[in-house]
Amino acid sequence: MYDKAAQIIKDARRVTAFTGAGISVESGIPPFRGENGLWNKYDPATFDISYFHSYTQRSWEVLREIFYDLFGQVQPNTAHYALAELEARGMLHSVITQNVDHLHYEAGNTVVHEFHGSLKHLVCLDCRQRYEISQIDLNLLPPKCELCGGVLKPDVIFFGEPIPEPARTNSFNETKKSDCFILIGTTGTVAPANMIPTQAKLNGATIIEINPHRSE
Ligand code: ZN
Repeated sequence: MYDKAAQIIKDARRVTAFTGAGISVESGIPPFRGENGLWNKYDPATFDISYFHSYTQRSWEVLREIFYDLFGQVQPNTAHYALAELEARGMLHSVITQNVDHLHYEAGNTVVHEFHGSLKHLVCLDCRQRYEISQIDLNLLPPKCELCGGVLKPDVIFFGEPIPEPARTNSFNETKKSDCFILIGTTGTVAPANMIPTQAKLNGATIIEINPHRSE
């Protein structure tokens, strides 16, 4: 099976990897769904954009705990590095990820479409100015924009928000061009991200799936 997958990747014209929470579990990031998932500990409503607007302070306290205290300590794992090596060898064109942990970049991939945004950046809700997380002091919540004083929000999508651009358009364009798709650590069940592998199948791309369970 591994030899066959390797041959498909070698023979492909353009390869894209599509990754989900599963690839980051070994880095210490719990998945959102399933047993031990974050949704068992935290109320998903906390990640609703309307909740963030109404209860900014409380929302930020949870965000800081999960995303910056917990996720902030993690490092890429072997799987992330393997994808970086494939890119370095010219065998992987891009990564489309549903993860917001930035670990593909940390591992060395340079073409990464972050379909759900990234925790590495914060965005001002008023003037849309973006900041690197390293520029911001999270001891004072909620963090504020230096330019206009507006509230900063992690630049990731909350429930009720659209997929960010240009990640959305870039992901679909990449999908149309790829003849081989490596699905890693994602069940492909969460909309609208699941439109990516579905589109790849419709285009006739060969799909290599790396998951504990077979998905549809
Ligand atoms: Zn601002």
